Parts: sequence; structure tokens; C-alpha cells
Amino acid sequence: MAEADNRPTNFIRQIIDNDLETGVHKTVQTRFPPEPNGFLHIGHAKSICLNFGIAEDYQGTCNLRFDDTNPEKESIDYVNAIKSDVQWLGYQWSGDVRYSSGYFQQLHDYAVELIEKGLAYVDFSTQEEMREMRGTLTQPGTNSPYRDTAPEENKEHFRKMAAGEYEEGHCCLRAKIDMTSPFMVMRDPVIYRIRFAHHHQTGDKWCIYPMYDFTHCISDAIEGISHSLCTLEFQDNRRLYDWVIENISIETTPRQYEFSRLNLEYTVLSKRKLIQLVTENHVSGWDDPRMPTIAGLKRRGYTPASIREFCQRIGVTKMDNLIEMSMLEACIRDDLNVNAPRAMAVLDPIRLVIENYQGDGEMLSAANHPNDETQGTRELPFDKEIFIERDDFRESANKKYKRLVLDKEVRLRNAYVVKAVRVDKDEDGNITTVYCTYDPDTLGKDPADGRKVKGVIHWVSAMRNQPAEIRLYDRLFKVPNPNGVELDEALNEDSLVVKQGVVESSMVSAEVGKAVQFERTGYFCKDVESSDEKLVFNRTVALRDTWAKIES
Ligand code: ATP
Ligand code: MG
Repeated sequence: MAEADNRPTNFIRQIIDNDLETGVHKTVQTRFPPEPNGFLHIGHAKSICLNFGIAEDYQGTCNLRFDDTNPEKESIDYVNAIKSDVQWLGYQWSGDVRYSSGYFQQLHDYAVELIEKGLAYVDFSTQEEMREMRGTLTQPGTNSPYRDTAPEENKEHFRKMAAGEYEEGHCCLRAKIDMTSPFMVMRDPVIYRIRFAHHHQTGDKWCIYPMYDFTHCISDAIEGISHSLCTLEFQDNRRLYDWVIENISIETTPRQYEFSRLNLEYTVLSKRKLIQLVTENHVSGWDDPRMPTIAGLKRRGYTPASIREFCQRIGVTKMDNLIEMSMLEACIRDDLNVNAPRAMAVLDPIRLVIENYQGDGEMLSAANHPNDETQGTRELPFDKEIFIERDDFRESANKKYKRLVLDKEVRLRNAYVVKAVRVDKDEDGNITTVYCTYDPDTLGKDPADGRKVKGVIHWVSAMRNQPAEIRLYDRLFKVPNPNGVELDEALNEDSLVVKQGVVESSMVSAEVGKAVQFERTGYFCKDVESSDEKLVFNRTVALRDTWAKIES
């Protein structure tokens, strides 16, 4: 196939190209099959971009199918969150949302077919007995005493299972394959179990639920999936997948291909661990901006395009990987550097009084983006008293400090050149106010233009501004690979630092979630917890990779 230049290439696309060339498939049909037992995370984004991306590029289709066979752990809230995350990432599934539970009747009937063919049996052994008979990786298993029950009898037992006549755990349906197989999944796996549980889609209709391995391949076949893409831990399960498809009377033969899952430094991508973070209140919820969930990244200020770009940059292979956090951060920085409008905010304010400034203040004009005129300009109130960062002033400093120093000049971004003349201090010796003079002739002039000023600092009017809570986020974990480390030891206790600062008044009308660059400080976005009384901003990412510096 002739491919457009910017299309990714990977081993899966090579397989698809080959299948289309040789006529194995005429069209490409993929699916994204989440279990609705948690929110989606950045690892799922990799799978979403792969499946939906392939469908897009090959003019195929991609289904969204909820693999909902564990009613106790699943919920409709997760279903809804997952749907909205997929759409937010920029993808639309083909037709209606599918549910494995929508195929429960067909799955049941295929199980009966296996029973009739003598390829499945109802086992009344206890869990303990079944575990012993399963054998180990080095020892073959042994046959269950129920293995040779006649099909008619098995059919009756299975009917009773479905009718609720047996208690939970009393028996289960197993595929009759090979107890000596070197692949544990092939040692007569359980394909149906009894669960008296209410299901979010099917209610109380069923008290038997099919197991994942049995469900997944049949659901793929029912939907006519051509390439069933999943992560490497399902490699062995492929044998069972193929066995089921071969032994039931279904037309299509989907093929499963495995790729390596995404692991990201300084975070965890297992739903079990993410749930633990939420339920033990280590974070404020699934959408806490420190979470690697799609909802968390969105609230943090990540854009769908930056996440798609990340998935493209990491690629798809079969190799184990631990991707650096800086790679994800580079993607959002590259996006926001071009697209985010600029504004000013002071996170740790100290008052600067301009002693020779006359009048009631004025409105200056500032460009919203230094290299993009189409982003326009905004009004910027300038007053006799302004706030600057405490860090941007020193009574004395060496030449490397390019900010405001007593008796020296600095340019106020988008405004004038000022010169510090004296300070006020409290009884503890902390500076409370800096006094300066300004030069009215320096408005808007480039510092290089004839006038030697050391540097440029940002500011916000002390008279016309908006107070704002500014949340600075850092890595949630302090170790690169927190998997296998106790949460208490691995969590970064400084992952959230809250500042009470001030922002330009123009920020009142900022859109929730839409990024802005606070000049010299970082990229931020207004948080959903903002109100008219209190603005709240989340730091999406710092302007530069400060961790790279610390680590080197
Ligand atoms: P967990 O193991 O954390 O519970 P899961 O894999 O069971 O996650 P599912 O809802 O079953 O979660 O995943 C849906 C799809 O997303 C599957 O095809 C799965 O392979 C894929 N997926 C899940 N995690 C990752 C990851 N870290 N990287 C790439 N793909 C992933
Ligand atoms: Mg899973």
C-alpha cells in the first residue's frame, strides 16, 4: 500500500499491508476493548491510538467494545467516563458502542455447542482440587474426574447452572483441551462460572458469566474483527483464542497480535494501583491532575493532540520499555509553545512601588503570543503599585542574576524599565516592599535598543488583578519505577505545592482546561474548581525540563 509520509510504520501495519496485498483481508476492522472497571490511562491511549489510527489510515472501522464479564468490579460510571475519554482523544467508534454482555446469549449457545461436541464439561471439583490438578510450569496437570462426563449430562448441568440451581462456586464449565499442555491456559481452562451478581447492562438476567478468554475471541469474531491487537501478556492466551474460534461454528477468523504495553517512569499504569491511589485518598480522584489517567491529563492541561503525538513518538513494538516522563512532557511543551497564549502571573508576590509614577494608572497593550500575531493583543492594567516575584529581587547579587537588584535596572515585561531604590522590611528582616523609579520613555522598547538593562521580569498590577490559587504539580512518585515498591515509600510527598498568587484580570474569563503560558513560569490552565470568588490554576508543565538538570 502506498502510505502517506507521516504515517507511522510498525510491525502490525506491516502485517496488515501484507494481509491486504495477499487478499487475506479486504478491509481492516479493529476494536478497542476496555473493561469498565476503572478510568482509562495513558497506556490505554497507546492502544486507542493504535486501533483507531489503523482504522483511519486504512479506511477501516474501529469498534468500542466494553469487555464487561466481571459485574462485581464494573460500573456504568466507568462506561461513561471511558466513552467520553475516547471522544476527547479525538476518536469516534464505528456504529453503536458494543458490549460483550450484549453477546451473552450467543456465548452461552457456543458453550453449549462445545459441550455437545464433547469439548467442554461441568466440573464439580473444589477450587483447591482444581488448583492441585492443574500442575505447575514444570509438572503436567492431571485430568479431573468429571472430564469424561457424557455431553448430555453436561448439558443438563450447564442448564442448571444458568437456571440458578447451583450455588456460586459449586461447579464451573471448563473447556476440554489438554491437561499436559506446556501452556497453562490450555489446561482445561474455566470458561463459565456462577456469579449471583447484578450486571450494569444485563441486570439480573444471568447468574453465569463467561470468562475473559472465552468471551474476547468470540466477541471479536461476532464483530468481524480482522486484527485483534492486545498487549504481550496475552501471548499465551492466543492459543486458547484460536482453539475456541476453530471449535465453534463461527464464520470469521480474527487473528490476535500482541505488542508491548506502555510503562511510564515515575507513575503506575495498573488499574488496581490507580484504584488504590483513589480509594486511599493519595490523590483527590481519578481526575487528579497528577494521575496518569486521561481524565487527569486533561484536567492538568494536556491536549488530545499532545497525547496522540506522544503515542506516535513511542511507537509500537514487542520490546519491554519504560518511557521517560520527559518524553510526554516534551509533547505537551511543543504543542503549547506554539499554541498557548501568554499572560502574566505572580506566584509568590512582593510589592513594588513606583515612586515617580503619576496618575491613576493606565492600560497597556500586550501581544498574546510573541511569534503569532493572529493571537491578537490584550489590555494590561499598569499601576503605581505592582507585584513581582519575591525571587526576582535581591538587595545585592552577582552579574549572573539578571533580575532586579537594588540600584540596578530591569525591564518589566510588556512595560517600562524600573530601577530599585530602597526596601521596607518587617521586624524579622523580611522585605515587605521594594521602592523603585521608572523611566516613562522606555515603554515597549526592546531592552537591546540602546538601553542596557540586565533582564526582563514579569509582574501583575497590585491594584487591578485577580487573586488565584496556583497548584504546582510534580511527579506523583519519587522512584522511576514504583511498581513493586510500597506506596508509602514511593510516593513523592511534594507532588503538589499550592501557591497563593495573583494573575492578570484578563484571566477571569479564561476557559477551564485551556492552557496559557504564564510568562517565565510555565504552562497553566484554569481548574474546574475555579469560581468567581476564587480562581484556581493547574500547572500543566514547567517551561523547561528542570528534572533533566537535577539528574545530570
Ligand atoms: P490493567 O492491567 O491495568 O487492569 P487492562 O489491560 O486490564 O489494565 P483493559 O481495560 O482490559 O485494561 O484494557 C483495554 C485495552 O487496553 C487492552 O487491549 C489492553 O491490552 C490495552 N492496554 C491496557 N494497558 C495498556 C498499556 N499500559 N499499554 C498499552 N496498552 C494497554
Ligand atoms: Mg484487561
